[in-house]
Amino acid sequence: MAEEYDLVILGGGTGGYVAAIRASQLGLKTALVEKGKLGGTCLHKGCIPSKALLRSAEVYATTKRSEEFGVSASDVTVNFSKVQERKGKIVDQLHKGVQHLMKQGKIDVFEGIGRILGPSIFSPLPGTISVEMNNGEENAMLVPKNVIVATGSRPRSLPGLEIGGNVMTSDEALAMEEIPNSIIIVGGGVIGIEWASMLSDFGADVTVIEYADRIIPTEDKEISKEMQRLMKKKGINIITSAKVLPETLKQTKGNATISAEVKGEQKEFTAAKILVSVGRQANTEGIGIENTDIQVEKGYIVTNEFFQTKESHIYAIGDVIGGLQLAHVASHEGIVAVEHIAGQNPSPIDYSLVSKCIYSAPEAASVGYTEDEAKEKGFKVKTGKFSFRAIGKALVFGESDGFVKIVADEETNDILGVHMIGPHVTDMISEAGLARVLDATPWEVAHTIHPHPTLSEAIGEAALAVEGKAIHS
Ligand code: FAD
Repeated sequence: MAEEYDLVILGGGTGGYVAAIRASQLGLKTALVEKGKLGGTCLHKGCIPSKALLRSAEVYATTKRSEEFGVSASDVTVNFSKVQERKGKIVDQLHKGVQHLMKQGKIDVFEGIGRILGPSIFSPLPGTISVEMNNGEENAMLVPKNVIVATGSRPRSLPGLEIGGNVMTSDEALAMEEIPNSIIIVGGGVIGIEWASMLSDFGADVTVIEYADRIIPTEDKEISKEMQRLMKKKGINIITSAKVLPETLKQTKGNATISAEVKGEQKEFTAAKILVSVGRQANTEGIGIENTDIQVEKGYIVTNEFFQTKESHIYAIGDVIGGLQLAHVASHEGIVAVEHIAGQNPSPIDYSLVSKCIYSAPEAASVGYTEDEAKEKGFKVKTGKFSFRAIGKALVFGESDGFVKIVADEETNDILGVHMIGPHVTDMISEAGLARVLDATPWEVAHTIHPHPTLSEAIGEAALAVEGKAIHS
């Protein structure tokens, strides 16, 4: 039996399920096909479980230094199975929430593997979706007017570096039953640094090996430098400009050894585990792309600014199209795609307005151009920087490392980028995001009176610092 829909979405991750909700709000008859669990990578293997572990690590690390706060705590230990149990409960609760939202929106959820068919007896256009049902029932046949491909991504490894034994990706790391006493993290990007920070706070001996000449290399150079300093202060061993040599991997039952070429010299590293965090690979296989004219370039589906593929009724959003592989980007792309399908004329996304966060301890967050990017784009740049060391609330928290940096255009005075490292900056970056959306000047940010004592005062002071007028420096 074939069922007709206005929209069928392939993949129920953050991109897919949010798109489904928007479609239901706009009155589109919608089906969502998910082969695993609603919520996708973000909810089950990414954002939420990793942040739950990071929070436990932070509580442990803070409790260990509780004397600083005048609080005595003895025998502070980690019960990792309870840490994992807490993580599981949070994920379950949110998973139920997504299931509820699907019911509330009257969205038909098909649990199974979806595949796009070519022109068929059901439709002259490619896009009929066949679903191999997880429960073994006969394949469902969905005949949509429009399709959104939101099949996401999975971890990738270095060519020749096989995952297995003591070598894992973030997928396996999230399911670990105990904290390894030592770990090598291959890749010092966002995911690598979050894991490094967390495992170090849990007491593991951590080495990060990064190919570029600095960790978190897509962030502003000053943020990378400060992050590197603070990770080293935790005791993390950071090796940059290092090329890991997969062929040198040796595994025994209890540990793994691998070599890297570091500034022309081959060095060997040994630890109980190796975590490979070198990026993600789009899930483009097995979904029937070959039955369509959809283009795939460098592993990602190609779309226009409204997320239409070469087949104008088939859209693609989220990690499967590459770019900024973030949950909030995937969901926003889903909303734009659905609004376009519904003829609502949405604005294309300006990716330079998207905030990016790193949830290590300390956190980092940014929006807009780094200082170097702004210069490369030909802007005459002026900057303002303010340290959390002079912020009362940061001292109260006992977390005064880091700073806020604002990059502005000398000519128009517009804010081009804001970069932060320090306590709770991931919860503060949206003010900077709004400032960018509204084309605010540092003067306007500074004159948004920031309440005292708050961490956000650092943003007001950094804005004043752009004109050399910070009060507390
Ligand atoms: P996904 O969430 O990957 O969802 C795709 C879904 O499609 C999956 O559920 C999959 O089962 C399903 N699917 C695939 N093929 C088929 C098929 N043929 N039929 C049916 N279903 C199919 N982002 C942030 O913004 N903040 C963070 O803090 C953050 N932390 C992260 C931490 C880690 C460790 C990782 C790995 C990622 C993190 N991310 C974070 C990235 C974020 O998880 C992704 O950007 C986001 O999940 C992308 O959403 P998506 O909908 O495109 O894809």
